[in-house]
Amino acid sequence: MQLITCPWCGPREEVEFHYGGQAHLAYPDDPAALSDEEWAHFVFFRDNPKGPFAERWSHAAGCRRWFNAVRDTRTYEFLAVYPMGQSAPEVAS
Ligand SMILES: [Zn+2]
Repeated sequence: MQLITCPWCGPREEVEFHYGGQAHLAYPDDPAALSDEEWAHFVFFRDNPKGPFAERWSHAAGCRRWFNAVRDTRTYEFLAVYPMGQSAPEVAS
């Protein structure tokens, strides 16, 4: 089991956290203008990179706050954590 560093609580066991999917997805400006295919793409399609990936996480069993993290999908290693609303930091993979 690995530790995940909550920006507010510090390192905690990973079982305290809940995965929230890909970070930095922009809600469409005018959803009603999208075709069914475009809407389905927004709802269901996510990036699936091999390497650093920006994700949303919540410290569900702790402070219950959401934050973003960059995780290497090859190793599961967390490369960075940062508050919601900030851009993903550059990280070396
Ligand atoms: Zn926390």
